[in-house]
Amino acid sequence: MKIAIIGAGYAGLSAAYDLAKAGHDVSIYEALGHVGGLAAGFKEPHWDSSVEAYYHHWFQSDQHMLGLIEELGLRQKVLFPRPLTVMLYQGKWYPFDSIPNALLYPGLGWGINKVRFGLVGLYLRLTNNWKPLEKVTVDAWMRKWAGEKVYSEMWEPLVVGKFGGKYAKQVNMAWMWARLKARTSRLGTYQGGFQTFSDDFAAILKQMGVKIRLNTPVSGITPTADGKLDLNLGAGGTIIYDQILATTSPGLLTRLAPSLPKDYLQGLLNLKSMGAVVLTMSIKHQLSKKGYYWFNMPKNAGFPFLALVEHTNYVSPEHFGGEHILYAGDYVDPDHEYFSLSKEELLERFIPAIQRINPDFSREWVINTWMHRTPYAQPVPFVNHSQNVPEIPTPIPGLYFASMSQVYPWDRGTNFAVEIGRKAARLMMARGK
Ligand SMILES: Cc1cc2nc3c(=O)[nH]c(=O)nc-3n(C[C@H](O)[C@H](O)[C@H](O)COP(=O)(O)OP(=O)(O)OC[C@H]3O[C@@H](n4cnc5c(N)ncnc54)[C@H](O)[C@@H]3O)c2cc1C
Repeated sequence: MKIAIIGAGYAGLSAAYDLAKAGHDVSIYEALGHVGGLAAGFKEPHWDSSVEAYYHHWFQSDQHMLGLIEELGLRQKVLFPRPLTVMLYQGKWYPFDSIPNALLYPGLGWGINKVRFGLVGLYLRLTNNWKPLEKVTVDAWMRKWAGEKVYSEMWEPLVVGKFGGKYAKQVNMAWMWARLKARTSRLGTYQGGFQTFSDDFAAILKQMGVKIRLNTPVSGITPTADGKLDLNLGAGGTIIYDQILATTSPGLLTRLAPSLPKDYLQGLLNLKSMGAVVLTMSIKHQLSKKGYYWFNMPKNAGFPFLALVEHTNYVSPEHFGGEHILYAGDYVDPDHEYFSLSKEELLERFIPAIQRINPDFSREWVINTWMHRTPYAQPVPFVNHSQNVPEIPTPIPGLYFASMSQVYPWDRGTNFAVEIGRKAARLMMARGK
């Protein structure tokens, strides 16, 4: 079959791998100048490693991602250090990346709240029965089972930080289950950064005959009278394919394929998501002298962003010419003012918060800054969300759709992008038989 894939993120690359392995003629169309999608990275000439536009790591439980890397023969390039994640309590930061550390965290005292926190965490780790959990919100379930104190101290800042005031009370409990279920303390990365992995993967695909067209945005998909699909490249003309897989956001698919049935289009538009804004800085000195990697920044303590990540407390600064790399990231609605501020304005807003981690930090520490923003970063799963997730095959024969919004009940992640990309490839090949 002649197949087009829209998007060179991990879903698109993974689908291409299986389709090309089975002998199909595959072309990937990517709007940007590089592969990797949301997991892409950038690099200064004097660095020997890339830094992700949006901080990324793998978990040891990421079986689809790690399995694929193994198949590609690249497993020896994956590293799993154990960096420290910390939580704030009364102005001090405490490690919070394992059950023993969580139990030592002073924020819950030593009585019933700690017991409830432990039992709820254990239950969510052990149960596989997420279906009943999607019928209720995180807010209602946690207040009932973990209690007001445990929820407001431990989980609510994360939910509010991720989904903002607009959606925090509407997110379903299966989302929280999925987060706790699929995470490990050791965090994985690739020698040279995620961009190096994406480039290694793309090089293998090219050897297999996959054509990767960068800087080539697709502007439309139209069914033809004889059951094929026309891929519209704007000024680049149109090309006919037997099947097309779109890995874009649901909103973009509605614009690419307006001939989809009205109710399907409406279903895509009903899927909500949060955007992300990440300011990355290269700085002269180490920020956290204790070597902390990930600071969970509670908004209710006045922090203007959700996560402060000192990447070089995870990957050595020697890979960045001795510079230290810091990310400050937040999830915000696409109409939030962070989408219109310049990176200098954002830095000015963020400096006082960074000084709360290390009072010595100042503008003079900053060597360079980069800002990355995306309106589609984190799908929002409402109650009974499973009923709203679109199937991978769309109502247009031969057109398939695999996005972050469909990896439910899992929270979006590269592992699940690989899983859904490979699932889409299987479905496409089954239809083609
Ligand atoms: C802030 C942040 C932190 C994250 N942290 C982690 C993490 O630590 N670990 C982890 O595993 N995951 C993480 N993720 C999630 C992970 O990045 C995604 O789940 C994954 O990359 C999604 O892959 P995808 O292929 O589904 O989509 P994408 O990566 O979004 O790929 C879609 C591609 O389609 C292209 N495209 C769009 N429109 C067109 C068009 N018209 N024509 C051609 N191409 C087009 C886009 O440019 C893009 O390259 C994070 C995401 C964010 C935003």
